[in-house]
Amino acid sequence: MKKNTTPQNVSRPVRTCIGCLTKKNKSGLFRFVLLADGSVTLDREQKHPGRGAYVCPDLNCLEIAIKKNQFARVFRQKILNSSLKLLKTEFTECLKTKSEL
Ligand SMILES: [Zn+2]
Repeated sequence: MKKNTTPQNVSRPVRTCIGCLTKKNKSGLFRFVLLADGSVTLDREQKHPGRGAYVCPDLNCLEIAIKKNQFARVFRQKILNSSLKLLKTEFTECLKTKSEL
């Protein structure tokens, strides 16, 4: 059997949603990053350096991710509860603006 290797020159980054665990094109997912104070924030520009967590543009996926402590797993540390609450608000806002475009 031939191994399915991705050519290195082709840039088609695929990431896994930490909610539904579906692999998707990176550009179709929302990126979250960890800040120095232990909070997680939505990286709208997808330019923040460091490790990122990816979630589908779907509030359900974010809720699953929070429920399953996926952010803590990805960032390997405890995430502030207050920041997770804020995250939902930010996420919902961003979904709204996206659908208005
Ligand atoms: Zn998802």
